Order: sequence, then C-alpha cells, then structure tokens
Amino acid sequence: MKVTFLGVGEAFDEDYTHTCILVEAAGRRMLVDCGATAPPSVWHQSKRPDYLDGIFISHFHADHVFGLPALMKRMEEDGRTRPFYLFGPVGTQRNVERLMEVAYPGMVARLPFTLRFRELQRSHRWDDWNLRVVNTRHSVQNLGLRLEAGSPTKVFCYSGDGMFTPTASKLYTNSDLLVHDAYSMDGTVKNSRGETINIGTKTHCSVQQLERLDDMARPKKMALIHLNRTLRKDKKEILKKYKQRRWIIPEPRDVIEL
Ligand SMILES: [Zn+2]
Ligand SMILES: [Zn+2]
Repeated sequence: MKVTFLGVGEAFDEDYTHTCILVEAAGRRMLVDCGATAPPSVWHQSKRPDYLDGIFISHFHADHVFGLPALMKRMEEDGRTRPFYLFGPVGTQRNVERLMEVAYPGMVARLPFTLRFRELQRSHRWDDWNLRVVNTRHSVQNLGLRLEAGSPTKVFCYSGDGMFTPTASKLYTNSDLLVHDAYSMDGTVKNSRGETINIGTKTHCSVQQLERLDDMARPKKMALIHLNRTLRKDKKEILKKYKQRRWIIPEPRDVIEL
C-alpha cells in the first residue's frame, strides 16, 4: 500500500494545500478528501482522466470536498468514461450533486461517466478493499475511516476532522498508519494578531490528546495533519518533544510505503 500526501493543510493556510491523500493498493487508487485548493496537486500527480477509481469524503466542509467539481470537470474534459466511486456519509449524493450544480450548472446531467455513490454507515466491501467507518466528534457529521487492502493486508486509518471517540480509537487499533487531525497543541490556537483563541477539543483534536489515542490504538505509525497555520511552524519542536513516539508531520508530496 502506498500513501501520498497531496495536501495536509487546514482550511485557511496561505501556503499549504487543503487535505487530500492518495491511497494505492491492490491495483486501485482512491483519494481521501479533496479540499478546494487540492485539484492542482492531483493533476500534478497524473493527467490521466482514468487515474483515480474513487474518493472517500470524511465530511462536508469546503477544505475537504470543494475540490470535487473541478476534479470531475477536468475528468470530463479529458475524456473519462469509466465510473467514479464516491464514498461518504449519508447525504453524500445530495450534497455532491448540489455542489456540482452550483459550481457548473447542468454538469451533473451532462457528465459522460457514471458517479457511483456509496453512502457508508458501517462497512463496505469494494472488491479487494474493505472500508469501515465510525462517527467522530466535529461541528458536522464526520467519518473516521479504516481501510484494509492488499496482500499482505495493510491497514490505513484516517480521522477526517475532529476529536476521536472510544469507538474511533477501537477502529484505528493496530493500523499500519493512522493519519489524524492535529489542529491545535492544547485546544488553543493563535490568530494572525497573536491573540490566543480557545477552540477546545470538542470539534478538533489536539496534539496533546493524540498521546492518549496513540497509547490506546497503538498504530505502527501516526501522521499528524491539518495543523493550524501557526502551529505548523513549530513542527520541529513538536517532533522533538515526541521523538520517542512513531509520529511524523508530513509535507505535501511525501510518500509512505506500508
Ligand atoms: Zn478541515
Ligand atoms: Zn471540518
């Protein structure tokens, strides 16, 4: 299994592309989220319209899903014919179609390839891939994902945005890689004026809370992403502080082979 971090940024970072991860295994390629600023990173990866088999959408926030209309429109222009799969929470079809209609009116009806929506509630078998999801805590419904694929089987887990729950911790147990939201250090972030804003740990996870998750779920490796734009400047200090753990803070285009 090969994991490429195309984007690792939060919603309002001036330099970092929105969250977007490419997972490849058993002859199949799936994007995991595609925020508004992510499509160019996908096109740099490959210009082939059939390159991707589908996408997993963790939740409906612009920095995770607003890249979809451009992604699809370019597939259409470049001549995609085979179906494209969309996995996400209940309501995915309605939301994606609405988003596409607002972006390019008439687009849904004219698309020359089929969109196959799979709204996930627990688990879903996609040929050799096995997807399992649970709800986590965010300001909107958000799915944490466990993906098992390949031979030997590798396990990729992804938090989307939000704070983990005991059920999510169980879902992530013994994964080869857990990619997790680490928006703040301790539930506070700094704005551009240097003022401290208390965001708590109800809708986003903090680096400190990840210590607890790491101890419970014991992933072989954990990738911290979606760091707040001021917090990510402390990357070296964070990695130094947690150097006894198997944590990484990936940069765009970093690749992990599992
Ligand atoms: Zn986000
Ligand atoms: Zn969000």
